[in-house]
Amino acid sequence: MKALVDLHTHTVASGHAYSTWNENVKAAQKKGLKVLGISEHAPMMPGTCKEIYFSNFKVLPEYVGELRVLNGIEANIYDFHGNIDVSEELCLKLDYIIASLHTVCIESGSVAQNTAAVIGAMRNPYVKIIGHPDDDQFPLDYEEIVQAAKAEKVALELNDSSLNPLCARKGGEKNIRKLLEKCVDHKTKIIMGTDSHYCDEVGRFRDTYKLLEEIKFPEKLIINMDLQQLPYVLRKH
Ligand SMILES: [Zn+2]
Ligand SMILES: [Zn+2]
Repeated sequence: MKALVDLHTHTVASGHAYSTWNENVKAAQKKGLKVLGISEHAPMMPGTCKEIYFSNFKVLPEYVGELRVLNGIEANIYDFHGNIDVSEELCLKLDYIIASLHTVCIESGSVAQNTAAVIGAMRNPYVKIIGHPDDDQFPLDYEEIVQAAKAEKVALELNDSSLNPLCARKGGEKNIRKLLEKCVDHKTKIIMGTDSHYCDEVGRFRDTYKLLEEIKFPEKLIINMDLQQLPYVLRKH
């Protein structure tokens, strides 16, 4: 199993990550990725960059050698309607938008409320990835989430950091197993993301590969394996 794409990475601009843009690019090249996405936390996350950071991507190269570099964002879902802290105007400047629930940006509600928040975000036409829907702190109805993702043509993220026992999110592996089982049932697409906050983690999917191989998850449902699938999660598709 070999991922060609990692769209969930952070740099120092996110405020609690420790590598630069260049360091992430070099790490992605070393790992043999074809596409690297940088997805800094959107402005509601304490300590992250301000909106203006996302407005000057024109100065960055689209390719470094053979590696394509995409400019994304990890938006915060901040209410149970699924609204995100990224304006339409800003969405139009980005290659892709991940939407995630974070405890510092929204207080968890009931299963029905959290599920409505995630499905509401999926209905935002710019959101094509739901980040780490695997946290006991935000219990979700996986049957509904997986069906809605399929209907809205949104990919659910398999977040490698969630499989790390040191992760701030809870119950990652248990929830991911449940999620993946339903993704197989409904043929819902997933995207693997490292959620790296340090360059050595970029493109490193150790625990993810182990789990996917163990359960024999169908490769055709994984966006990262085939560059032709990439447009599924990009803003225009
Ligand atoms: Zn996140
Ligand atoms: Zn992240």
